[in-house]
Formats: sequence, C-alpha cells, structure tokens
Amino acid sequence: VKEVSVLKSKTDELAELDKKHFIHPTSAPKKGAQDGPDIIFSDGQGIFANNLEGEAYIDGMSMLWNVNIGHGQKELAEAANEQMLKIAYSSAFKGFSNVPAIKLAEKLASIAPGDLNSVFYTSGGSESNDTAFKLSRFYWSLKGKHEKKKIIAMRDGYHGVTQAAQSATGIPTTHEFAGASVEGFYHATPHLTNCELGDKNDPNYEQSIRYLIEKEGADTIAAVIIEPVQGAGGVNIPPEGYLQAVRKLCDEFNILFIADEVICGFGRTGKMFGVENWEVVPDLMCIAKGITSGYSQLGGVMISDTVREAIVNYEGVMAHGFTYSGHPTACAVALKNIEIIERDGIVENAKAMEKEMQKGLAYLEEKHDIIRNSRSIGLLAAFELYNSATGEHFDPSLQAATKVVDECFNRKLILRAIGDFRVAIAPPLVINKQEINDMIHIIDESITAFKKTI
Ligand code: PLP
Repeated sequence: VKEVSVLKSKTDELAELDKKHFIHPTSAPKKGAQDGPDIIFSDGQGIFANNLEGEAYIDGMSMLWNVNIGHGQKELAEAANEQMLKIAYSSAFKGFSNVPAIKLAEKLASIAPGDLNSVFYTSGGSESNDTAFKLSRFYWSLKGKHEKKKIIAMRDGYHGVTQAAQSATGIPTTHEFAGASVEGFYHATPHLTNCELGDKNDPNYEQSIRYLIEKEGADTIAAVIIEPVQGAGGVNIPPEGYLQAVRKLCDEFNILFIADEVICGFGRTGKMFGVENWEVVPDLMCIAKGITSGYSQLGGVMISDTVREAIVNYEGVMAHGFTYSGHPTACAVALKNIEIIERDGIVENAKAMEKEMQKGLAYLEEKHDIIRNSRSIGLLAAFELYNSATGEHFDPSLQAATKVVDECFNRKLILRAIGDFRVAIAPPLVINKQEINDMIHIIDESITAFKKTI
C-alpha cells in the first residue's frame, strides 16, 4: 500500500511539472495546462503499456499506429545500444555514409514492391512527404518540365504537419491551425473508381482526380499522393480497383504516384506494404512509423528506378537533406525491427488476426444497434456510432466517439476517436486471438455504459 501511494505521489508531482512546462503536440493546450496528462507511461510489454503506478493498459492503437512489433522488444534496445557505443552519429551528407544506413537501404530495396530500389532517409512521416513532393518537382524539372509542380491529394487524407505535408492533408481542422497551408495543393474525393477510369457521366465526376487534372492541366501537376488506406481520416479502405485506376490515370497523364505508407507500411494491413493488397507499384513510397516500430525516429522515401535514373544523372548538388537522414542508430534499430518482422511472421500474424478482428466487430454490430459501418484490413480497423432512433450519426455536440473512447480508457483499453463519431483500432501486430477478444469485450462493456448516458 505504501509503495502504491509513493508511486501515486510521484505521478502527481510529474503531472504538475507537465502542466507547467510541457506543451503537447496535437492536444488542447488549455486543457493540458489545467488538467495535466491523462496518463504518464512508464514501460510496456507486447500489447500492453503501463502507467507509472504499474497499471497495464491495452495499447489498442499501437500508440500512434506505429508500435508494430509491440512494446518491450529487448533486441531493439540492444541493437540501439550496440550501435550507439560504436559512434554517436555520422553525417550522410556529401561523401559520408555509415554501415547501418547502407545495409538498411539494401534491405528496404529487397522488401519494397516493384522497382522501388533506392531510399532517401528522413526522421519521420511529414519529412518523408515533404521530401516526396520536392523529389517529384525535381524529377520533372530534370525532365525539362519545369511547370509540373502541383500536388493532388485526397479529402480525408492525412500526411503530417510540416507546411507542405499539412497542405496535402485533406482534413480541414489541420488547415485551420496557424494558417499553415501553402499554395499548389488540390484535393479530390477518394475512392471514385469509375471517375478515375474516365466515366464523365458519374455524378461525382467533378470531385475526381481526373477532373482536377483536366481542369489544372497535366503539364502543371507533379504528383498525386494517396494513403493506400486512409488512417487518421477515418480508416477508409479503398474499393477494389481504385488504386489500380489511379495508377493507370497517373501513367496516362505523366504524373508521379506517391503512396503514403506511413501507417500502412511494415505489416499493418496484413501485407508488408499497403499497396501490395492491390498489386500497385507507386513511383515514390513514403515510409516511417512501423519502420522502427516506434523505437527510434526514422522515415524515408522509396524511389523507383525511373525516378532514380533521372536523379543520379544530375551533376549539381541536390540541396535537400536532414541532419538525421540515415542516422546510424535509427537505421540499426530499423534493421533489427525488419529482421524480427520477418523472423517472427508478424505480417502473417496481422493477416491471420484480421479475421478475429472482423468477427469481433461483427459481434459488436450485432449486439449494439449504435455501431455500424465497421471495417478492417489486417489490424487497421474502425467503427462508427449512430443514433439508432434517427439512423443518422450522433449529433456532434454529444461527442459520442470521445465518450466511447473515454469509457474504454476507464477500462484500460486505449483507442482513438476520429472526429465526432468514428473510433479507430490498430493494436500491435503481435496481438493474439485471446487479446483481440479481450479488447472486443472491453469495447462491448464501454458501449453498454455509453448507451446508459444518452
Ligand atoms: N502520413 C501518414 C499517413 C500519417 O498517418 C502520419 C502520422 O500520423 C504522417 C504522414 C506524419 O508522420 P509524422 O507524424 O511522423 O511526421
């Protein structure tokens, strides 16, 4: 009892310091400054993340969709330790290179689809997307097409918060922050397969990528960026044929296809990369998050042989690079992470657990008439909350998704509310059948509790 109270006072002390000194990313600052953090994490094991008092929470979101191989994987800590003891850091600018960065580049080339055989390293997803936009513009300018600069992205797409990544993001609330959007980004409605294939009679035609290309002129457009499955915008899975249609469209108009695999990559959808579900090979592929399962900060852009050929024929200096591009520790961690993903059949497990997740979601829909539109691919899932009396989503003022997520949190399951009525689930890919059932059971109880409040 004494030990618990000591830990509790430690938590309170740290919470006070957090309130005073820590401005949290993507959070409500006023609430943070008044209430402090909801939880201070201390350690974790597998699908569990523990608070300072040793209470275990199921990490049903792999934190930020990134802890793919789960918490507490000692081998990654050892890989980092071993590499850090060798050298603090080494630059990859100009003629400098390092062993883990070289080995990882070769490994990534071997697992990436098609001819994506080269990598440009970054420290995360936003940097990867900004890099991909610059590389596409650079590529076209090397081809003598200096006007090809515009980027087409999707409504409800999420690409990060640096200025270009934020401009590509199609979630309006992110644009409102600090007027950060820059020019040259256009948004189409995702998943309009027929329109992208050329059906001008489709009532949604004017929302399509094809329409935007025709309107703006293909000669002005550098690239289209798409998440194979939209994550933060609501876990929106494309209909069969959509990504293939976009690939065809990009080929038809000489536009580069950028796949943002920051969430989908490294097993999340039951394939190593999301695009593999539809056998599409992009020209540039942005990766981050699952590349190290969150144990270290790393991202990258995989580059096709065609784009590479133009770049490596350039004799000037490519004035783009981050201090931490190719950080040896991050690369060593990524190498070990990929080794574990392959050795332990993590992608296969995500695929096998997809069925359990689908069974669980079907059970929830059957039992609770307020749950509808559940969807999942691999271990990327979501459900929506409906007012059963009206058949519509709950009124936003009710904040249904936040309330359900709070009920889950009170029962030690971490999920994520997306907007007012969607709830996302993306557990570590090492989860087993029993653990998925435990998660579903908690959601079941939480929905029952939520229904009593409305
Ligand atoms: N792209 C996608 C699809 C993401 O989900 C995210 C982050 O959630 C990003 C890019 C941005 O990555 P980062 O936060 O590492 O900059």
